[in-house]
Amino acid sequence: DLSGKTAVITGSNSGIGLGIAWELARAGADIVLNSFTDDEADHALAQQIAEECNVTARYIKADMSKGDECRRLIAEAGTCDILVNNAGIQHVAPIPDFPAEKWDAIIAINLSSAFHTTAVALPMMRKAGWGRVINIASAHGLTASPYKSAYIAAKHGIVGLSKTTALETAKEPITCNAICPGYVLTPIVEKQIPDTMKEYDMSREEVIEQVMLTRQPSREFATVEQMGGTATFLCSDAAAQITGTTISVDGGWTAL
Ligand code: NAD
Repeated sequence: DLSGKTAVITGSNSGIGLGIAWELARAGADIVLNSFTDDEADHALAQQIAEECNVTARYIKADMSKGDECRRLIAEAGTCDILVNNAGIQHVAPIPDFPAEKWDAIIAINLSSAFHTTAVALPMMRKAGWGRVINIASAHGLTASPYKSAYIAAKHGIVGLSKTTALETAKEPITCNAICPGYVLTPIVEKQIPDTMKEYDMSREEVIEQVMLTRQPSREFATVEQMGGTATFLCSDAAAQITGTTISVDGGWTAL
């Protein structure tokens, strides 16, 4: 039961972040949603979670590509018992053609943001006497594929940051782990399909079956609900001694 705990989930107005927010709210946690937009629809999501799960939920705009905004997000949340570093973007190109500004943006959003949010959240967790840091890495935090240099560097980086965070909190009732999803059909994956179609000269169906899901032995996309369930488990007492590690939810990808 997570009632009385506040969860801040970065990049949570769609996809995995939103799925995790829903599952943590169903488990009783108060929710802070985030993205870089400030639309009515963003605030409406928070209201819907609050009403359906009978928790407090709000949306805070903050751009995770900027360190000071990452820090402001946690400060404005006021309390942060569960921090889910989920915001992420992707770009697919061979290294010589990879735009430098895309490299910088991916490293900032997918990796550095977690450093900034964790820096502000850990003192709050210490004060509260309990905390969970959950970093959303990827199967690409453990293995590589061509054309995703920045993403793979950032995801391997966040696995390393998770281990260091775990060691710095090891004697405290705080844990830090990384969830490593395989392919989940969310907007970030949807957006990769056209580029990959071009790269391999394939149809949409061929890309899904022969490129994306060939790495995933289950041949099924994982779901955002499964990511939410895994995050909720990491917040449970059963997971209190699980720290500094990765949990793959990838249909067997990293077993290959
Ligand atoms: P998504 O595009 O649906 O979600 C990304 C979220 O990040 C969105 O809410 C978006 O608004 C937010 N975001 C992007 N830039 C931001 C910024 N500058 N500031 C604040 N928020 C920002 O994609 P998703 O699949 O739900 O991805 C969520 C996380 O899961 C990412 O870190 C991604 O790398 C990781 N992941 C996804 C998959 C997959 O197959 N979908 C697999 C492994 C890992």
